[in-house]
Amino acid sequence: VADASIPTGRETVPDVLVRGVVDRVAALRENLGPGGRIAAIGVGCAGLINVDRGIVRLSPNLPTWRDVPLRDRLRDALQRPVSLVNDANAFAYAEGRYGAGAGCATGLFVTLGTGVGGAVVIAGKLQGGAHGLAGEIGHVSVDVDGVECPCGGRGCLEMLVGSSRIIERAERKIASGASGAAIRAATGDGEMTTRAIAMAAEAGDRTARAVFAEVGEIIGIALAGVSNFLDPDVIVIGGGVAEAGEVLWEPLRRTFDARVMAPADIRPQIRPSRFGASAGLIGAARFAYDRTTAA
Ligand SMILES: [Zn+2]
Repeated sequence: VADASIPTGRETVPDVLVRGVVDRVAALRENLGPGGRIAAIGVGCAGLINVDRGIVRLSPNLPTWRDVPLRDRLRDALQRPVSLVNDANAFAYAEGRYGAGAGCATGLFVTLGTGVGGAVVIAGKLQGGAHGLAGEIGHVSVDVDGVECPCGGRGCLEMLVGSSRIIERAERKIASGASGAAIRAATGDGEMTTRAIAMAAEAGDRTARAVFAEVGEIIGIALAGVSNFLDPDVIVIGGGVAEAGEVLWEPLRRTFDARVMAPADIRPQIRPSRFGASAGLIGAARFAYDRTTAA
């Protein structure tokens, strides 16, 4: 019907976020028209979420947050039912029901963006694990001696291919003598983005293509390992970085095929997300609707 957004940063405290969301919801209400009403509010948030208690236990994107009762704070402020779910689970909820993973028996859902999120669906149901941590493919280590990760690990996938790491890869190459002209031209006056690197790569720039070749190979290695463990029939990949196109997908698929244990006839299908940037929104909203109408 309508959408709106507010920026958040690593220093954003719960009070500021809640106030921002409440303001936006109030503004969006005016778009509902006569008879329109808000049935429920769904929230997708990166990090370790306790769905039953509606608590953000911790979030890598919001490092100051600890055990924030976000669901109840929004419910009190908005006077509507609210549900809170991990953002990658919201993504899987949308793509697994209506999107690129619809009808899968065993699905692996991966989001590539600032962070790397993941979720697992088995027999049509999201699997949270014992504590809601299942599916955290971003914190599978793919580099034994890699950089430390805030999660406690080292060389986690997210530390190698999260969007800021992709930008660092490009900057490192340029600093050590690779041509940065095409990436700079695509960047314009602003700060370098993965989108700009992808545009340069798509246009044939060698530096940008080398960045995505590395990133695609690393993701392919991680997916092959997780695929050996899970045996999915479908892997759905979304998030802003996934929109880089073939410059990412080709090395990803090639590495996956070379490394995965499953023979070709039973390999999972690797598909781009159907809903793109809206997948988390759709999934969080549907999750809230289902929980509200089931209650
Ligand atoms: Zn980690």
